[in-house]
Amino acid sequence: MSATLATVSYIGATILFILSLGGLSNPETSRRGNLYGMIGMTIAVLATVFGPQVTAHGYAWIIGAMVVGGSIGLYAARVVKMTQMPELVALMHSLVGLAAVLVGFANYIDPAAAGVYQGAEKTIHELEIYIGILIGAVTFSGSVIAFGKLSAKISGKPMLLPGRHWMNLAGLLVVVWFAWRFINTHTVADGMTPLIVMTVIALLFGIHMVMAIGGADMPVVVSMLNSYSGWAAAATGFMLNNDLLIVTGALVGSSGAILSYIMCRAMNRHFISVIAGGFGTEGGAPAAPAGAGAQPAGEVAPILAAETAELLREAKNVIIVPGYGMAVAQAQHTVYEITKHLRDKGVNVRFGIHPVAGRMPGHMNVLLAEAKVPYDIVFEMDELNEDFPDTDVAMVIGANDIVNPAAQDDPTSPIAGMPVLEVWKAKTSIVMKRSMASGYAGVDNPLFYKENNRMLFGDAKKMLDEVLVALKT
Ligand code: NDP
Repeated sequence: MSATLATVSYIGATILFILSLGGLSNPETSRRGNLYGMIGMTIAVLATVFGPQVTAHGYAWIIGAMVVGGSIGLYAARVVKMTQMPELVALMHSLVGLAAVLVGFANYIDPAAAGVYQGAEKTIHELEIYIGILIGAVTFSGSVIAFGKLSAKISGKPMLLPGRHWMNLAGLLVVVWFAWRFINTHTVADGMTPLIVMTVIALLFGIHMVMAIGGADMPVVVSMLNSYSGWAAAATGFMLNNDLLIVTGALVGSSGAILSYIMCRAMNRHFISVIAGGFGTEGGAPAAPAGAGAQPAGEVAPILAAETAELLREAKNVIIVPGYGMAVAQAQHTVYEITKHLRDKGVNVRFGIHPVAGRMPGHMNVLLAEAKVPYDIVFEMDELNEDFPDTDVAMVIGANDIVNPAAQDDPTSPIAGMPVLEVWKAKTSIVMKRSMASGYAGVDNPLFYKENNRMLFGDAKKMLDEVLVALKT
């Protein structure tokens, strides 16, 4: 393929990626957005493999790598459950980071690159390598820890080392010092020491940063690592002189940064505080062990499925608040059946979606769209939080942290300040979950003990099936 054709293909792929991001911003156009992304990526891969930078003897390596990588990707995509998607995404981010580190080192020691850059160009190229490895290493180790936390292999509690901000600052100064040393070395052998020291510090910083994040702040970190992985890819593009990689990386990096910002606003957190790793976590008490159950703050009032159906039948306004448990139980289709039944009977049913409900941004919207719940009855938290006092029944399906009044009432809570869906203001709230266990943030939920709250204990799918049967009889 000629260089001109490759460039034209790159521009085409870039346009498709931009259209893809545009499409993904709305559930109705998201399928099309995905399609644009897939076509764009196919063009990008073909244009790179058959482009002028790859020589004939490289094909065997590339095809081998694509077969191995593609098979692993295909297998992972087939076996992963919807509830495991965030872990998979975290793992993917770690691979982008690792690739940036490896490309950086390969680029630096590549004998073919020796002497190609001179003077200022050499300094710029070395800085590209240094920064690329730095971002890549932070992304890699941070994403591995995020994977551990999301899959509950590592405790979700924040690990707050004494003087951790000073440690971060010292690490930053050492990294800057070694950058200066690195660009002033004359041989590859001399440059390796500062490069390796910086890589180790960056790896430790990534671990430290994510370990310090606790409770409900993980979504911000996941979207932030998404952003980092984009910048790591962009840095790799600079190292390899690949324009498409630079543009694609910048698209991922900036859209991830915007998402992180939106998440921070939704969680009432400071962006810089989260990036610095748990800044401000001091205010919150350490989270109680997840699943340890609540400190009893009164009596809880259980309810049966048939009684729930009765309350729903008599209601005029119902708000359903889905959470992670709905995803675990795969209850979305029954939720849709109940919604349809109630709407047919003239009940005003709406859905309230918290920005961090579930385990990935947009998790609940995806599930509800899959179950064909109409988009026009699905609202964001801010759009209907004021409507709870006029609501007869607020039905909480497998949600916990996002409906926890302690976020508003208890300044010592790890989730203090996080906006929540105020379901307790409805005439009756019904919480559907299997036990009194806490949610992701590991904190007790006083909602369960409120006078107007009822607990429908059991698997959400099973309980909703029973509610549906009772509604229809
Ligand atoms: P939570 O994790 O707070 O609560 C989910 C509840 O669902 C649990 O208390 C659990 O209780 C219940 N549950 C689990 N399985 C079932 C089942 N089969 N049937 C019925 N109930 C079930 O989820 P929320 O959606 O309320 O909040 C999301 C949390 O996850 C927030 O803290 C958020 O910060 C965090 N997070 C979000 C991410 C995102 O991007 N959205 C990413 C990472 C973390 P029980 O065991 O008793 O059934």
